[in-house]
Amino acid sequence: ESQLNPNYNFVNFIEGDSNRLARSASMAVANKPGGTSFNPLLIYGGVGLGKTHLAHAIGVDIKDKYPDKTVLYISSEKFTQQFIDSVKSNTRNDFIHFYQMIDVLIIDDVQFLSGKAGTQDVFFHIFNHLHQNGKQVILTSDKAPVDMQDIEQRLLSRFKWGLSAELQAPDYETRISILQNKLYRDGVEMPEDIVEYIAKNIKSNVRELEGVIISMIAQASFNRREFSLELAKQIVDKFVKNTKKEVSIDYIQKEVSKYFDMDVATLQSKTRKRHIVQARQLAMFFAKRLTKTSLASIGNQIGQRDHATVLHACKTVDNLTETDKQFRKYVDDLTKKLTF
Ligand code: ADP
Ligand code: MG
Repeated sequence: ESQLNPNYNFVNFIEGDSNRLARSASMAVANKPGGTSFNPLLIYGGVGLGKTHLAHAIGVDIKDKYPDKTVLYISSEKFTQQFIDSVKSNTRNDFIHFYQMIDVLIIDDVQFLSGKAGTQDVFFHIFNHLHQNGKQVILTSDKAPVDMQDIEQRLLSRFKWGLSAELQAPDYETRISILQNKLYRDGVEMPEDIVEYIAKNIKSNVRELEGVIISMIAQASFNRREFSLELAKQIVDKFVKNTKKEVSIDYIQKEVSKYFDMDVATLQSKTRKRHIVQARQLAMFFAKRLTKTSLASIGNQIGQRDHATVLHACKTVDNLTETDKQFRKYVDDLTKKLTF
């Protein structure tokens, strides 16, 4: 039994800037398992960004193209449990032998191997055997190898042998596509403004995007209600409440300074140097946009300026965003940083 979920395939994995590398590397691996330099292929990224989906998609596609290959998908927790059981029942060798016979081994969430020396040790030997024999290994993790903790060095170095591809939070366009695709597959029509509202407000987790849709459909049919913006707001609020991080003006100043490689004192200083003025204006703009603070108080906190200066800053940022491509990129980058 391969444990693969056929619903997690490449066809319904929506492509976007946030996942392009990981997706195309996954497809390359599926075309030629063990035959690319992406071995192991490690897919990493935050919760709900599609790691498990992509890992399955590779396996599903390989089973389709190479029906004779043995493909196994397993979570690292289950792998650990099997190993522990095999030790208890004196069948450790059978366990190792079983895994060494697999053509394509997919282990999900390897961060859970952290601190488990025995399991890491046995996995190290299985990995070496598979790799030496040209078998494909696919791993997922919530972190890049450099950031993994309590994983043995020799195993980490193996993780870095192939390709580590990150799944990032999807941008707005991709979120819209994911929502539309989900609605289409569920055979549901939803007004565009509602889809846009959801995409605007759920930013960092595809599972939550889907969750809102599922919840909308359930609520609407249960209460015989139409899809309304009102309902979307209620549901989105529930999702956002649990995950929204508090954005403070301090945080905004820190992030903007960091982005422009200056310190907060410089950003707040009286200088008229253009790039510093722009950084300060951006901090004001985001403070206005992302907090409920008054213009006067924003000015006070960002280098003791008055409310008119803040208002002017917001207008300037609006104008520059329209006319200056480079500036627009600053706003986009910072929006991502501050709201994800
Ligand atoms: P992770 O393993 O990273 O926590 P999952 O793979 O479980 O995330 O994805 C969460 C949900 O979001 C799944 O239902 C998955 O199908 C969906 N999903 C994630 N990324 C995409 C995408 N690019 N296109 C379509 N669905 C996606
Ligand atoms: Mg997962």
